[in-house]
Amino acid sequence: MDCIFCKIAKKEIPSSIVYEDEKIIMFKDLNPIAPIHILAIPKKHISSASDINSENSQIIAYIFEIIAKENKKLGLENGYRIINNCGKLGGQTVGHIHFHIVGGKELAWPKL
Ligand code: AMP
Ligand code: ZN
Repeated sequence: MDCIFCKIAKKEIPSSIVYEDEKIIMFKDLNPIAPIHILAIPKKHISSASDINSENSQIIAYIFEIIAKENKKLGLENGYRIINNCGKLGGQTVGHIHFHIVGGKELAWPKL
């Protein structure tokens, strides 16, 4: 399967990794929208949030658990936002589920 984030997870293409374990990987977004902009993905391919089900939802909880555990090390101890774009109207451009973690400044809300 020709999935850019699967390739990042397998180190077939380079990325700036900020956290990794056997299940997930977190790396810097190539086009940051905030001083800190990290993407968190499961290594196993899930296409989008609409493909979360009872078989694979554990990894989603695990991603949030690791974000909570690592936020201080990532410089996000004063707050951050987790974003998931899902599907065409949701602005998803890469078809491997990913959570944007943005921070490092006071973030505007709620203008979309
Ligand atoms: P989305 O629009 O929610 O699907 O987000 C995709 C994100 O992936 C965008 O913010 C891109 O800047 C980012 N991106 C695409 N290719 C790479 C890459 N090779 N390394 C890091 N970030 C990437
Ligand atoms: Zn993938």
